[in-house]
Amino acid sequence: MSDALTTLEAARRRTFAIISHPDAGKTTLTEKLLLYSGAIHLAGSVKARRASRHATSDWMAIEKERGISVTSSVLQFEHKGLQCNLLDTPGHQDFGEDTYRTLVAADAAIMLLDNAKGVEPQTKKLFHVARLRRTPVVTLINKCDREGKDPLDLMSEVEQVLGIATVPLDWPIGSGKGFVGVYDRLDRKVHLFSPGRHGEEIVAEEVLDPDDPQLRERIGDSLHDKLREDLELLEAAGEPFDHERFLAGEQTPVFFGSAATNFGIGPFLDRFVTLAPPPGPRETRDGGVREANDPAFSAFVFKIQANMDPSHRDRLCFVRICSGRYEKGMKVRHARLDKELKLAMAHTLLGRDRVSVEEAYAGDIVGLVDTQHVLRIGDTVSTDRGPAFNGVPRFSPEIFATLHLADPLRRKQLVEGLTQLAEEGAVQIFFRRGQGALDPIVAVVGVLQLEVLQARLEAEYSVRIKVERLGFSHARWLDGIDDPVKAARAIVGTHVDDTDGHPVVLLRNDWELGVAERENPKVGFLTTSPLD
Ligand code: GDP
Repeated sequence: MSDALTTLEAARRRTFAIISHPDAGKTTLTEKLLLYSGAIHLAGSVKARRASRHATSDWMAIEKERGISVTSSVLQFEHKGLQCNLLDTPGHQDFGEDTYRTLVAADAAIMLLDNAKGVEPQTKKLFHVARLRRTPVVTLINKCDREGKDPLDLMSEVEQVLGIATVPLDWPIGSGKGFVGVYDRLDRKVHLFSPGRHGEEIVAEEVLDPDDPQLRERIGDSLHDKLREDLELLEAAGEPFDHERFLAGEQTPVFFGSAATNFGIGPFLDRFVTLAPPPGPRETRDGGVREANDPAFSAFVFKIQANMDPSHRDRLCFVRICSGRYEKGMKVRHARLDKELKLAMAHTLLGRDRVSVEEAYAGDIVGLVDTQHVLRIGDTVSTDRGPAFNGVPRFSPEIFATLHLADPLRRKQLVEGLTQLAEEGAVQIFFRRGQGALDPIVAVVGVLQLEVLQARLEAEYSVRIKVERLGFSHARWLDGIDDPVKAARAIVGTHVDDTDGHPVVLLRNDWELGVAERENPKVGFLTTSPLD
């Protein structure tokens, strides 16, 4: 197969994730993107599935009850000849490190905001993770069919809270029940929508010139005058859209719409796929980059799901392809172990079904079956001896606990289970100094993960534990210290090591963190683990 095909296929990939706070409308939007791309013809099925979630603490049962957007790691659809890979970012109570790590595999993000709520806590956290890699972010203000905050206020909220410049690329016409369309500022066209069957189908759309005399008739004098005023204000006061600044993560284009009624979703999707970049160069550990059109296949592991099927201890490792072409049965080199691996099976998840992948390109996600248990999060595999990718950092957890074993004779199984879950990235483990592996501190990002931990240890390792929550709320990796023992004396907090031996301090609250930072101005208190 020619390299030209590999380059062409990479260039038409758009790999992205949606970052939002629960209830902003991510599930609804996901379904509408599928509707507008033609992947489905009728919306409305996701909602019904969602109702049955969160009912049980049994991990397998939780998995089974999740709807399509939750079970699958990636949704694929085509739009305008482009292959879109929408990465799933688990939200709600199952919000966790997986959610953060997914962003490391994305080339762009849609930041979805509820027009009445603006920037909410989970959006903020995810935005900061996206910013670590300078991921371009496109903002969609949702629920415009309901009265919300003023569009200008929403944009200044984004600028102030997140520190990114905003440029509206479309503008809402009317609000709440009177939301009738959007004005596309790039094309200078007005899109008016007619309500459809509760947003189940693509809505009828009429495109008019802003100077068309019909427009005043159609939307009435007051909306017409308001639109003119708004647009004049934006022209005079706003900064112009700058594609380079967007790609550098410094400016976010803003769109308005309603995922429920579909108003604005069509123009948004059309624009989004052209704004979102194709797979670009990825940073490698030697300080260089690997280009997406490099003919050698390369990929890194960003997510692991183990023991999905209780009858075999299987491990599905999701890799993000960064260059070249994946072919079934190909041989690759495992960079960390410097060892050859045969990729016998790759899967993509379509709903609940695993589908075997024959070929895939840069930007695509495939699930590799790791029969030898050799892959970890952050590992690189490639067909050449090129440098490994930068890996995937761990992110500061917020919930900490110790585990009490019901049967002390099962300590070995507990260690085995914890090691597995830590390698998957489901939990993080910290060791207190001088105590070795005994009594580790287990930490997670979302509270559901502790339940999952308990359920999985019991189901997969026959280990019953009691979880005791500890009063910490921050973990910070210490940077710029010579001697961890001396640092532990100087810096307030509980000092521990992570599984790679990096010194970490655990702090109870913002106040303690503030004290630690103020008293030790030369020490870096990092929210992510160093990449080594
Ligand atoms: P998620 O938690 O972000 O996945 O949000 P969902 O898609 O489940 O939506 C949360 C709630 O907001 C549901 O009741 C949706 O029907 C509602 N919703 C989503 N989009 C819109 C919208 O554009 N307008 C209105 N009025 N409601 C919406």
